[in-house]
Amino acid sequence: MSAEAEVNAVPQTHSFQAETRQLLKLMIHSMYSNKEIFLRELISNASDACEKLRFLALQSPETLGDVSDLKVTLVVDKDARTLTIADNGVGMNEQDVRENLGTIARSGTRQFLTQLSGDQKKDSQLIGQFGVGFYSAFIVADKVEVLTRKAGDEAAVHWVSDGEGEFTVAAADKAERGTEITLHLRDDEAEFLEPSRIEHIVRRYSDHIGLPISLDGNTINQARALWTRPKSELKDEDYQQFYQHIAHDWEAPAVWAHHKVEGNLEYTSLLYIPKRAPMDLWDRDQARGLQLYVKRVFILDRAAELLPSYLRFVRGLVDSADLPLNVSREILQGNRTAGKLKSALTKRVLDLLDDLAKNRPDDYAEFWKTFGAVLKEGIVEDAPNQARLAGLLRFASTTSGERQSVTLADYVARMPAEQTSIYFHSADSLAAARNSPHLEGFRKKGFEVLLLTDRIDEWVTAHLSEFDGRKLVSVAAAAADVEGVIETADKAKLDGDFAETLPKLQQALDGRIASARLSSRLTESPSCLVAAEHGVSRRLEEMLRQAGESVPTSLPILEINAEHPLVERLKGCNDEADFADLAELLLGQAVLAEGGQLSDPSRFVKSLNALLLGRGGQGGGAGLIL
Ligand code: ADP
Ligand code: MG
Repeated sequence: MSAEAEVNAVPQTHSFQAETRQLLKLMIHSMYSNKEIFLRELISNASDACEKLRFLALQSPETLGDVSDLKVTLVVDKDARTLTIADNGVGMNEQDVRENLGTIARSGTRQFLTQLSGDQKKDSQLIGQFGVGFYSAFIVADKVEVLTRKAGDEAAVHWVSDGEGEFTVAAADKAERGTEITLHLRDDEAEFLEPSRIEHIVRRYSDHIGLPISLDGNTINQARALWTRPKSELKDEDYQQFYQHIAHDWEAPAVWAHHKVEGNLEYTSLLYIPKRAPMDLWDRDQARGLQLYVKRVFILDRAAELLPSYLRFVRGLVDSADLPLNVSREILQGNRTAGKLKSALTKRVLDLLDDLAKNRPDDYAEFWKTFGAVLKEGIVEDAPNQARLAGLLRFASTTSGERQSVTLADYVARMPAEQTSIYFHSADSLAAARNSPHLEGFRKKGFEVLLLTDRIDEWVTAHLSEFDGRKLVSVAAAAADVEGVIETADKAKLDGDFAETLPKLQQALDGRIASARLSSRLTESPSCLVAAEHGVSRRLEEMLRQAGESVPTSLPILEINAEHPLVERLKGCNDEADFADLAELLLGQAVLAEGGQLSDPSRFVKSLNALLLGRGGQGGGAGLIL
């Protein structure tokens, strides 16, 4: 024995990380109604350990020994009341044991814990989503022992814990590489000593594992990797169980697709769309992507290179016959075959979504609610598939309810004959979008307007310039064709009437607006702001500024409604101070109507009060009743 091993021969006591302790407690409590899943978790770990070894042995076959008989063995000891799950996989050394079984290293653990409510049903779902893993052993055991020896090492490690807060680690002997996990079952868990019960659970959750799982010397699962089996042999339940194994998800997936492809690209893919978004969906640094196998050998767990980032919610695997076995993340990035695989898999996912949208619209609506904002990134990122993606978009509109349910095709089909473009309006909330003054003229005319509220929408509309030959046009942009859409009474005459007022108004608001002009889009409100032609949209400008980007300031155009009493009042106003107050009010109202922030609120309030109460705040004759 080495000196290091001797020191550790006496069990060393360690404390669990605080989060681990908290999670353990909560888990035992809230997972109890589903306690049998502990076996799925431990078998899943055993299978992962065997796959890891198979992969490592490709590089150093001599040191790691024979990998042809990888297996999981279950042993019941009724007298000792123990259940042991053993594998001959990669095993762990002391450091591995302390890191893997003493901490929950996953990012977001703390945040996850704050989401737990104490409501058992909700919490068990959340915990399931988070992944219960190794610790689920404590749902049924009051003491867990792990005896493990890392492949290539001589020394073994013995880990013991009662799951209460501490664990011990000591050096030990073990004849073969691999891991043995022994559960000392709680008093009322005798059911897990019954071979028939164990067999039932294994069939239910672990049938698809590509290794033999044996009990009393008999193999009790299919022992063939699920994706290698013919589709005709597989039931929905098989696919669902397999999903839960690879995605660590508690719920069944929304939909999946299994393909075996031969030809100049040869692969099997099994792609799943989850029902629920993972907690790190918006975390750009989080691991994502498919599992990669090459000729049945597990290579990478989350290979982000095989799908574009806007499909990061897709789980599953691809088993390629064309990539080399020594493929790494670095190699994948520049590899032509990997590139081809990526575009083939992207098409498969889009096919799957098309199919869902067409045949199960309600489920697609759920999908859209969960992942729609992510899929929209594809409009920006994936030009070759943009037209297909546009067909998958769903919007709220002036004619729809709260839900984003309108397709661009629906919209186009409903367009009146004289309408040529697709109109949209974006705001920070649906209510703000729906009530915006910009929509007044369109509403009067009977033109539907798409209402956009996701932040990504600003980029979507900047990149998606048309659909089905129709341009997408913002109602808030000053584009000429928006003007043409709306009937104006007698614009020339009106312009004449306001020939003096408009330049005066512009002067009163000098430095804050680019120009002032009469609006043809307002029917009820006195004023609104529009972006200058070719200018960045006002909302995008604001978003970029918030993100700390330097944006060249482009001043908006102030449009006023000639028929509004306030504007008539402006036209007839000869008092310079009153004119300035009215101008202030028209600009301020336009800003507020879009949900914007006044740059000088007290100035606005002063002007408002001066107009309401008369100058000097005395009330009296000069007051304006609004
Ligand atoms: P996960 O499987 O999601 O990583 P677990 O809690 O199930 O999380 O397991 C934690 C870690 O412990 C694993 O990632 C692995 O490194 C290690 N581990 C667990 N069981 C085994 C085993 N049978 N053989 C080798 N390593 C294991
Ligand atoms: Mg696990």
